[in-house]
Amino acid sequence: DGEALHCIGCGAEIQTTDKTAPGYTPQSALDKGMEKEEVYCQRCFRLRHYNEIVPVGLTDDDFLNLLTQIQDANALIVYVVDIFDFNGSVIPGLHRFVGENPILLVGNKEDLLPSSLKRSKLKDWIRQRANEQGLRPIDVTLLSAKTNQSVDQLLTMIDKYRGDRDVYVVGVTNVGKSTLINQIIRQNTGVKDLITTSRFPGTTLDKIELPLDDDHVLVDTPGIIQNQQMAHFLDGKDLKIVAPQKQIKPKTYQLNDQQTLFFGGVARFDYTKGPKTGFIAYFENNLYIHRTKLENADDFYDRQLGQLLTPPQPENKDDFPPLVAHEFKTTVKSDLVFEGLGWITVPAGVNVTGWAPAGVGVLVRRAMI
Ligand code: GDP
Repeated sequence: DGEALHCIGCGAEIQTTDKTAPGYTPQSALDKGMEKEEVYCQRCFRLRHYNEIVPVGLTDDDFLNLLTQIQDANALIVYVVDIFDFNGSVIPGLHRFVGENPILLVGNKEDLLPSSLKRSKLKDWIRQRANEQGLRPIDVTLLSAKTNQSVDQLLTMIDKYRGDRDVYVVGVTNVGKSTLINQIIRQNTGVKDLITTSRFPGTTLDKIELPLDDDHVLVDTPGIIQNQQMAHFLDGKDLKIVAPQKQIKPKTYQLNDQQTLFFGGVARFDYTKGPKTGFIAYFENNLYIHRTKLENADDFYDRQLGQLLTPPQPENKDDFPPLVAHEFKTTVKSDLVFEGLGWITVPAGVNVTGWAPAGVGVLVRRAMI
């Protein structure tokens, strides 16, 4: 009859196309639900039956409404970022919505870092990036939601800082917020039923609340979709090839200047000026790295994108954004970071150029190893 169907849990309009948007329901589940005349979205279904949180992303307008509500709450804000993709983890304007509320900054995906990387330096670096966004976190902690490493420390910190407040967990999509909350639920064996309560005003989503051991709750908020992430340029298969999956094994390259390294078709590194020297690459262990002469590099990329240089796969290469060059001259030993992909440690006093798809950040930081 043409009328839109709504989830009887959260009220979101049912749709079968976008897994990460509100109201997603697999077609088979939709057919079954229609027979019984009750259709739940996948998110509400998994919450009811498995006590599990499925990630969901909001558009800008809905997300603004959500932040406005946080502004009015008396809350400890747990801000989850992906330490591999700090730019891609930024919540635009978060500092304006924080008000007087304290922020606890959580750097997720620590399991990917080589053990040689000093955690204290990384924490300082994350804190500085947060300061640049106008945020003054009361504390910074690193953990792995996937391996459950240091999640208990986070819970201890939350108890230390929350005082007489609720806890709001915020983060953009893909930083691992749902994985983290599901770990927290698993650790809190007392949690039998997650409570879904009143809607975030102006959004289609209910709040998911996890009761804490007093009258307070931990609230999972939907993420905002950050289009700067590699996740938006690559399909699931390609993303598995470029996004680090396991602890990174550094690879060293001795390069003369005027040499280039390709990282699949997703990133490029030009050593433009300086003596013969060593560079250390920290990328997904299985990503194909190809060395060539700088003068041949443009031509090589045009010919080999989607062939030797994958990802992207041949069928996706025409939609893949062009690589954009970012030039740097180092004064100290530095990391040239390709956000969401990895980084290259570069000695002091050389000229280098990092290339990444338009929209993906390339930046230099003081070397962390
Ligand atoms: P959300 O959108 O923020 O809720 O993110 P998800 O929880 O769905 O996680 C996004 C992706 O990051 C998934 O592929 C997860 O498996 C992965 N992920 C989440 N946490 C970690 C972690 O601690 N380490 C690693 N290596 N991957 C993680």
